[in-house]
Amino acid sequence: MDATDIHVPVAISTAHVHLTPAVIEELFSDMYRLHERSRLLQPTQYAAKESVTLIGPHGRLSNVRIIGPPRAVNQVELSRNDALTLGIDAPERKSGDLEGTPGIFIEGPRTRVKLERGVICALRHVHMGPFDADRLGLKDQDRIDVFTEGPTRRILFRDVLVRVSADYRLELHLDADDGRAAGLSSGDYVLLGGQSTQRPNG
Ligand SMILES: [Zn+2]
Repeated sequence: MDATDIHVPVAISTAHVHLTPAVIEELFSDMYRLHERSRLLQPTQYAAKESVTLIGPHGRLSNVRIIGPPRAVNQVELSRNDALTLGIDAPERKSGDLEGTPGIFIEGPRTRVKLERGVICALRHVHMGPFDADRLGLKDQDRIDVFTEGPTRRILFRDVLVRVSADYRLELHLDADDGRAAGLSSGDYVLLGGQSTQRPNG
């Protein structure tokens, strides 16, 4: 099957944080457990009822959602606009690639915690399970083109990172800046345009 036949649902991610159990306890209370507000399409992932405030040198972002379940490593995912608001030069990275990334202050009901690192602008990426990867001829870490349909303001995203895992469902993840630029909302569909012809470094 050709990749261009595949419609992929979109999820637009606003600024959010993944936190360790230890930081959640510091921010909320001892032995604190997150409360699920809504399930995300990716299995086991949920938006928590709990939110935090991010504080950078130039400003703050409040009502920033915690995405559960808790993780082994803290990660703060911002759009470029969020990063400008905070005054933090967040590099474009894939999830989990946090070497040399800037830190941030996070405020919860109990206290303010300083993370030494973990602030990124997440690379555009599309999640998929092994079955979809096989039928599309793709593997983890490949880069593909993704484009929007419609009569106007069509946009082509180059070099979108492919993430394959048995735990994933087919879904494109964009940040709020990209979503706005492309006129896309969560639940809309885009088309895969095949593998990018020129692979970026790394
Ligand atoms: Zn994702």
